[in-house]
Amino acid sequence: MSQKRSLLAVVDGMPTSDGAGVSLLRVVGTPQIDYLDPFLMLDEFKNDDPGAYVAGFPEHPHRGFETVSYMKQGAMKHRDSAGNEGIIHDGGVQWMTAGRGIIHSEMPQQTEGLLWGYQLWVNLPAAHKMTAPRYQDIQTDDIPEVITDELHVRIMAGNYAGVEGASQTLWPVEYMDIMAKPHAVMAHDIPDGHNVMVFVYDGEMTVGDKVIRPHQLGIFEQSGSLEMVAGETGAGCLLMAGKPIGEPVAKMGPFVMNTEAELRQAVMDFRAGKFA
Ligand code: MN
Repeated sequence: MSQKRSLLAVVDGMPTSDGAGVSLLRVVGTPQIDYLDPFLMLDEFKNDDPGAYVAGFPEHPHRGFETVSYMKQGAMKHRDSAGNEGIIHDGGVQWMTAGRGIIHSEMPQQTEGLLWGYQLWVNLPAAHKMTAPRYQDIQTDDIPEVITDELHVRIMAGNYAGVEGASQTLWPVEYMDIMAKPHAVMAHDIPDGHNVMVFVYDGEMTVGDKVIRPHQLGIFEQSGSLEMVAGETGAGCLLMAGKPIGEPVAKMGPFVMNTEAELRQAVMDFRAGKFA
C-alpha cells in the first residue's frame, strides 16, 4: 500500500477581471502560484450580477496550449476561427486545443441569474504546441459519472474507479468534479511524479491534519495515493492531476510557448492573420 500524499500548500485565489471586464477569482496564474506543471491557469467565475459577466470574453487569440471551460451553472457559447461553434449548458465542458493558433470568443448566453464556471489552461509539450486546433464540446449528459452513497464524481478527463473520462487529451491529465457527503472519504490513485491540485468550491476537504476551505487550492506532494475526507457539511471540489511536462514555459497573455523567440513569432503570426 502506497503512502498517502500530504498537502504541501494551501493558497487563496486572487480576485481579478479578464475578458471584457468579467469578475473572476484567479487561483493559478497568480504571483503566489505562477503555474503547476502542466496547469498554467485556473479561474473561477461565479456571479449572479449580470453586469459582472455579460460582456464575456470577445474574440481573442491563443497558441501553444489548451483552454478547458467547465460550466457548473449557466450557458457559454464558443466560436472559433477554425469554424467550430457550440453552446454548453449547466454541467458541460468545452475542451479547446489552441495548438498552432486560434481566435475564439467565449460568451455567456444568459442575461440574468447565476453564472458559475471554471477555466483551466492545460499546457502542451513542444511536440504538440503547433498541432492543428481541435474543439471538443461535451454536454453534461455525456460526462461519465461514478455515484455512490457518499460520492458523486464527474470525470471530465482521466480515469476514476475504472471509468474513463469524456475528453480526449494530448497529455496525461485528469480533471474531475467531486461532490462528497459529510465525512465521505475520497481516495484515488495517481501515478507517482504527477502533480495534483484540488480547488474546494463548497464545504471543506481534510488531508491529514490540514484543511482546504472554500475558494482555496490545495497543492499536493508528487508521490503517494490521494486521500481526502469531506467536512461536516460535505464538500464540492475540482481535482486536477497531470504529468509534469518539464520544459521551459514562456508566457505572454494568451500565448504559451517554450521560448521568448517563439512568443515573438506568435505575436507576428497573429498580426499577419496566420491564425486558423
Ligand atoms: Mn480564450
